[in-house]
Amino acid sequence: MKLDRWMETGIDLIYPPRCPFCGTIIPSRWELLCPECREEEKAALHRPARIDREKHYYYCIESAAALYKYHHPLVQNGILRMKSSEPWYAAGFARLMAVRLYGYEPDKRKSLLDFSLEYGCIVPVPDSKTGRGYWVTGLMARELGRLVGLPVETKALKKIRSTVRQAGLDREERLTNLIGAFEVTSPEKVEGKKILLLDDIMTTGSTVSCCAQALLEAGAVSVCVICLAVSERG
Ligand SMILES: [Zn+2]
Repeated sequence: MKLDRWMETGIDLIYPPRCPFCGTIIPSRWELLCPECREEEKAALHRPARIDREKHYYYCIESAAALYKYHHPLVQNGILRMKSSEPWYAAGFARLMAVRLYGYEPDKRKSLLDFSLEYGCIVPVPDSKTGRGYWVTGLMARELGRLVGLPVETKALKKIRSTVRQAGLDREERLTNLIGAFEVTSPEKVEGKKILLLDDIMTTGSTVSCCAQALLEAGAVSVCVICLAVSERG
């Protein structure tokens, strides 16, 4: 067993890993889920992972994908828990993304796909709430980047203007609400790179589109989006 695997095992003994959906303690972080949630998870998967452009009207984005359907109760509850009080579930969800979407194999400690060829870095969508004390997409991006071997630029993109809560707004209102809300603060970190933009939930696609627009204006070559869950109507 390699040193980092020993360290993971040690950490798991001190802070037992939990199923990110329900909070049940699981024997090791690479179990990913408890047996009950593993059974239920199949119905919650968004398959194919690719997000249909017609349903979301996203722009400035080459492609978008999500692991789960947001409206499945299992997913909704898990995300609510992660966002409201238990930030360590972000790492659990990032591991699920690495394994389910990118073929990460814990035993081999590598992904099926070589991401260094596809992307220059991961950029997490900046937080919409202030004062929560932790940043869910930032935590997820760090763990995903570590697993798939991509650098994570947590300070490249910044929210420069506060916006009203997106929930409850229609598509037009969401876009207006977000115009000029994001800015690339360190263009050298994104210039000339293909970016993998990470968000927790994609609803209309307006947040990720506004982020992508700022990244492209700062010199990024392209932006692909990866989300934990997508909300799809109809
Ligand atoms: Zn569970």
